[in-house]
Amino acid sequence: MNLEKNVEEISEKIKVSLMCSNYSFNDIMFVAVTKTETIETVEELIRCGVLHIGESRVQELVRKYEVIGDKVIWHMIGHLQKNKVKYIVDKVSFIHSLDSESLALEIEKRASKIGKVINCLIEVNISGEESKHGLKLSDVKAFLFKINKLKHINIVGLMTMAPYSNDAENSRKFFNELKELASEIKPIDNVCMKYLSMGMSNDFEVALQEGANMIRIGRALFKNDVQ
Ligand SMILES: *Cc1c(COP(=O)(O)O)cnc(C)c1O
Repeated sequence: MNLEKNVEEISEKIKVSLMCSNYSFNDIMFVAVTKTETIETVEELIRCGVLHIGESRVQELVRKYEVIGDKVIWHMIGHLQKNKVKYIVDKVSFIHSLDSESLALEIEKRASKIGKVINCLIEVNISGEESKHGLKLSDVKAFLFKINKLKHINIVGLMTMAPYSNDAENSRKFFNELKELASEIKPIDNVCMKYLSMGMSNDFEVALQEGANMIRIGRALFKNDVQ
């Protein structure tokens, strides 16, 4: 695996995908999703200029944080159980997977204890697949009014995952629906739709065309040359 080359390749694809977008390359938050990758790989990513690291499991995030610390900005992107919030609240800047009032209350409680404000994105289950986490599209607005008084949570956007498909075009309508939803949400206290976190290795180009400004990339970064 040649990380530098892969980062370069993805950066080129990001630029091309933005040709008809209001965003430019520097507006895009590129989150490298490191999951089972090693700490050495994270350090190499840092050398390649990648400064946003995403983890889907609390245990992995904690393990890597113990070595890497605040050299990068940490994103919790996977489903988060309430009883694990306490392990990551001091470490992460972004939580992409807020999807229940009880989780919001737990984040608020833990963040207020350490005097920190956490940026959170609401995870939306656009496709309605049962295997996916996230709020139903029709529940998002009411949810925001329930939690926007929490002082240690800033809602900064929405996140979604499209159903897995071999054809990235199949993701387009789900990304478009998320963008539509974000555009209907007016800023209220502690809520501002600054970020759309959508697009992974297989569909990030389509996501960017549909208005994503946060993409979460794993496999495309760590692929080998010969394929
Ligand atoms: C693993 C994961 C990603 C990255 O997926 P790839 O297909 O490896 O790019 C993005 N978002 C979430 C929530 C994930 O769990």
